[in-house]
Amino acid sequence: MKRLYWTNPDVYEIEVEVKSVGDCKVTADPAVFHPDEGGQPADTGTIGRADVTNAEIVDGRIIHTLSEPLGDGQYVATVDKQHRLNTARQHTAQHIISGIAESQFDLKTTGVHIGLETSTIDFDKKADWQSLQAIERQAMTAVVENIAVETTFDASGVRSRFDLSQIDSDMIRVVKIGKYDASACCGAHVLRTGEIGIIRIIDLESKRDGTRLHVAAGLKALEFSQTETTTLRELRKISKCSSLELPAILRRALEQSKGLAKEVDRLQGSMLPNFVETAQMAEVGPSRVGIQVDAVGAKYAGKLAALIAEKIGGTGIVVTDCNVAISSKSLDASELLEKLQKAFGGKGGGSPKSANGRLDKAVTTEQIVKIFTDGRGTIPFGVANSRE
Ligand SMILES: [Zn+2]
Repeated sequence: MKRLYWTNPDVYEIEVEVKSVGDCKVTADPAVFHPDEGGQPADTGTIGRADVTNAEIVDGRIIHTLSEPLGDGQYVATVDKQHRLNTARQHTAQHIISGIAESQFDLKTTGVHIGLETSTIDFDKKADWQSLQAIERQAMTAVVENIAVETTFDASGVRSRFDLSQIDSDMIRVVKIGKYDASACCGAHVLRTGEIGIIRIIDLESKRDGTRLHVAAGLKALEFSQTETTTLRELRKISKCSSLELPAILRRALEQSKGLAKEVDRLQGSMLPNFVETAQMAEVGPSRVGIQVDAVGAKYAGKLAALIAEKIGGTGIVVTDCNVAISSKSLDASELLEKLQKAFGGKGGGSPKSANGRLDKAVTTEQIVKIFTDGRGTIPFGVANSRE
């Protein structure tokens, strides 16, 4: 099989001999579509009138998946150039980063995934953010130097980062990028490092036995940086401070909000008796029902419903953020919840004594009363009934 994507990576259109090997599956000779090997996505494009949606190596052959069947014969194959170049930029950036990481930081690459937006590189050891920033700076130096990416077929003395055993080839392809990297590789590369444009290490994930880097290259790196810059600019406007001050301000705001949430929680807990007194009452058949809507947080809903039920010897219904808690000493709590769900949508369940659920929309006390009483009004309960 002639691997044109190796020997002539700048050929994007050529006549190929197509042989059908299954439903919408064909081989094409010469091989101009890069298959999904070496941790990178396959080329896309067209053969004749059919779109090529995938190219993969199956039993040593490159099998193309088409959008529609093609008969055997000669067709013009066209590779999507932007898709290929995007992959090649990301992959060549990975070579440079892996090479620098290994030679200067003793970080060996154990896995690579080249994505269409960003890529990941796995190292065999823990790495800190400062080291990665140093690697990123050196990688950009390699881009600025615009070094030729050389491809040879002499594998003596170079390492491979991938399992090359599945490739049906009697030659090992070696990719060399100046002093930065030399390794056996089957992927797509740019011809000179300057074509990568930008290399950005955008995140670091600590793994149990190593580090995973998230990398973007070329226009994808620019798009990523633009999004981050826009977000930072927005945050600066909201916080009225510089980018450098943002982490401290955000930390302080989060601490304050945690403190406030605790205080609200404490106050709500201490005010439960008041909420029992101010519950709106309705008569449902022979039983009394006390209702509170959006008075307490979800944490206290069940407790408040039980306190109301206890106080009136009837049923307590507490709604907070569409969550419903019903506690009852008279009517069937699960039946009441079902009635509410029938009217407002939602889910949940329980027993005759206690039921919990969620409604699909926000409700008012009046709406709940209407469901249970066919529109008869509410009856104020207790002494402290000035609320509402
Ligand atoms: Zn490569």
